[in-house]
Amino acid sequence: MDFLLTKEQKYIQKAAREFAIGEMAPVGREFDLNETYPEAIVEKARKLDLIGLFIPEKFGGPGLGFLEQAIVLEEFWKVDPGIGQQLSSLSFGAEEFILFGTEEQGKKYLDPIFTGDAVMGFAITEPDAGSDTLSASTAAVKQGNEWVINGSKIMIGNGTRGTFMLIFALTDPDAARSKRHSIFIVETDRQGYKADPMHGKMGLRCSDTAAIYLNNVRVPEENLLGTRGNGFHQLMAFFDRSRAYVSAHGVGLAQGALNMAVKHVRDRKQFGKPIGSFQGVQFKIADMAVKVELARNIMYKAAWLLDNGTPDTNVTAMAKMYSARIAVEVVDEALQLHGGYGYFNDYDIERFYRAAKVLEIYEGAKEIEKMIIGRTIVGR
Ligand SMILES: Cc1cc2nc3c(=O)[nH]c(=O)nc-3n(C[C@H](O)[C@H](O)[C@H](O)COP(=O)(O)OP(=O)(O)OC[C@H]3O[C@@H](n4cnc5c(N)ncnc54)[C@H](O)[C@@H]3O)c2cc1C
Repeated sequence: MDFLLTKEQKYIQKAAREFAIGEMAPVGREFDLNETYPEAIVEKARKLDLIGLFIPEKFGGPGLGFLEQAIVLEEFWKVDPGIGQQLSSLSFGAEEFILFGTEEQGKKYLDPIFTGDAVMGFAITEPDAGSDTLSASTAAVKQGNEWVINGSKIMIGNGTRGTFMLIFALTDPDAARSKRHSIFIVETDRQGYKADPMHGKMGLRCSDTAAIYLNNVRVPEENLLGTRGNGFHQLMAFFDRSRAYVSAHGVGLAQGALNMAVKHVRDRKQFGKPIGSFQGVQFKIADMAVKVELARNIMYKAAWLLDNGTPDTNVTAMAKMYSARIAVEVVDEALQLHGGYGYFNDYDIERFYRAAKVLEIYEGAKEIEKMIIGRTIVGR
């Protein structure tokens, strides 16, 4: 057992930290306010190998692990959750190619994420199928050598910016419930693909989120990713991995909020002293720091298990659920310590406060994580 990061991991962490401070900090507030897509930052991160760290070299990626991915995302989210979200989502769903795709698919679709301007997304959620992913009714029907896809998706990352999307679709409606769906690669320039940006998000406002409409979209047979009817199992395997780095989003956001709170309580004077000198305030800071440290430990463990070839659904779900919860709690207390100033958007804590809540909703609402953990322990 070793709790220390390697020299290389520390180097990656430092590079991500410097990138976040240099590129993201100066524009984070303005981009969030104006819903500005961070185009130039995306391009720079791509060139510096700060995206998709877990993607193997044979598919054009840095060939590192989920722990390195998590370390980088923690640094990004510490400085700006919105830009952090966008950088994280450029390769959202790539795990499907690594676990279930063919060599040709991996090379064809993942390589351009690093060498070109490709952006991907994973469209699972539908207006009537959110937590209940098995209710997804977007249908793919086989016609000759093609699949014809019809339906709609909602709240999809990179729906408008993406060059290709993974679409979770119903292919075998008469099969057993968990064997009805399959996953398809759909290039967004195919006829019948339409995406409308969804404006007005509470937080992460510079990241692309869209509604997608698929109207008789035709894809060739080779765009099936993995096995027909295995889509749900493939989706769960994806969540077992992606939730580890969503946990890193929470740890980063919470650490960023804690750092702001510490700075503020040292600077702000009331009753003739810095408010940080009051024991009541120090107790709050101590509670926040304990939560962040515990969340980071389980996040590292979840990522470490993945990198060691022993994914653990339960630990990943715990890491995601706990980090999201403490992010919401820590940022709430951090804003409290800013008093009325924290309520104005010229303080970064306001933006962090708005960003945190989504962590308890997307990639499995907190209740869904609890269901997974409870079922694993008690049985169905
Ligand atoms: C910013 C953002 C980005 C997103 N990006 C993507 C993306 O890239 N791809 C994608 O496919 N989706 C994406 N989503 C959608 C997200 O995954 C869903 O919002 C999430 O899965 C919850 O689904 P829902 O919103 O339909 O809520 P519902 O499923 O309607 O659930 C509402 C609430 O009901 C409760 N609930 C539901 N079921 C249960 C249960 N069985 N037991 C107890 N309580 C329950 C929970 O409190 C839950 O939060 C994104 C969402 C947001 C906000």
